[in-house]
Amino acid sequence: MNAPEPIHTRPGQFVLTLNAGSSSLKVALYASGGDTPLVSGIADRIGGADGILKLKDGAGQPMPVHGAQLDSHESALAAVIDALRRDFPALALVAVGHRVVHGGARYAEPLVLDDAALEYLESLVPFAPLHQPHNLRGIRAAMAAFPGVPQVACFDTAFHRQHPWVNDAFALPRALYAEGVRRYGFHGLSYEYVSGALAQRAPGLSSGCVVVAHLGNGASMCAVQNGRSVASTMGFSALDGLPMGTRCGQLDPGVLLYLMDQKGMSAGHISDLLYKQSGLLGLSGVSNDMRTLEASPAPEAAEAIDYFVFRCQREVGAMAAAMGGIDALVFCGGIGENSRLIRQRICERLAWMGIELDHQRNAANAFVVSTETARTTVLVIPTNEELVIARAARAAALTAEANP
Ligand code: AMP
Repeated sequence: MNAPEPIHTRPGQFVLTLNAGSSSLKVALYASGGDTPLVSGIADRIGGADGILKLKDGAGQPMPVHGAQLDSHESALAAVIDALRRDFPALALVAVGHRVVHGGARYAEPLVLDDAALEYLESLVPFAPLHQPHNLRGIRAAMAAFPGVPQVACFDTAFHRQHPWVNDAFALPRALYAEGVRRYGFHGLSYEYVSGALAQRAPGLSSGCVVVAHLGNGASMCAVQNGRSVASTMGFSALDGLPMGTRCGQLDPGVLLYLMDQKGMSAGHISDLLYKQSGLLGLSGVSNDMRTLEASPAPEAAEAIDYFVFRCQREVGAMAAAMGGIDALVFCGGIGENSRLIRQRICERLAWMGIELDHQRNAANAFVVSTETARTTVLVIPTNEELVIARAARAAALTAEANP
């Protein structure tokens, strides 16, 4: 009897995930139904003279990439496909899943894209001008590269769509709410993954009041009650809430008026200031990277960390208040998953809400990092947005196939 063909060489068994940024394209290839990527990587600095494509296989080993041309998202995707085909000649896809930052007020679920949906997503570009156009470029490149393969959009806003109205609106004239000026919330794919993992590993906690802290280069918190988002620190844009690597976080709108009226700054300049020059970088003048700040002797680096920690402490309180209590605090994202120092500093002043860290567990980045006796459990759950996209893309494609 012949040995069964390994699953990854059977046609029609793959899901490709794409996350297109302004000059990058993150990719992962999954066996349909599999949870571990067979290939993952990034095409970076697309359009620059020093564009680079880095791919690794399922064992984490670098894959050979020969002379990739990365002058556009289309050529970056072509280079990815070329590299994949060398290991997976029968590359037939069940679906391509795309990370899309904004699904507007309309989309609360992943969606198989058609012309009408693309048109709606295009209309949301003014709401997320720094991300949405690039997400759409990735979709168009994949449509051209894989004609006939379902393209599934997975939205960072979708997880938050059931916010109660008081957490959805700003106290502005209602006409602005009607035209879409709302608190959408972001990082929804991460919160979905973490909530699902919590439901599997600690179902008792996941049915309660959980604050999830996604602390990475982008950072936000979400109040998740019984598996549903009820509030988030991010609002209309991915600028609000916590300070981030280079983004300012919560800001008095009066500052914007001052910058415009008194300093004559244009919208473009202000956008650059708030998105790219603020946050940890702006405060420290040293770096946007938490590891670098932790290692830096500069007093400004220490102050930037103090500010980050303080805002995190405040927002854990705010998220708990939005739910009327807290049963668990979950850390994820590059900082949340890896920095024992930041977790410890944040938790230090949260004893009043029943939080008490076990320092050994915290140092080991364990699943549970609180003490046995703590009233509120503190956990670390490495997030996995790509897996959420891969699963959702496969499920949406299969549903669409069953209901043509
Ligand atoms: P992300 O955007 O989720 O990839 O997270 C990136 C952030 O995580 C950067 O600020 C990194 O410095 C930070 N980070 C990653 N590993 C560590 C670590 N071991 N200690 C402190 N910060 C870390």
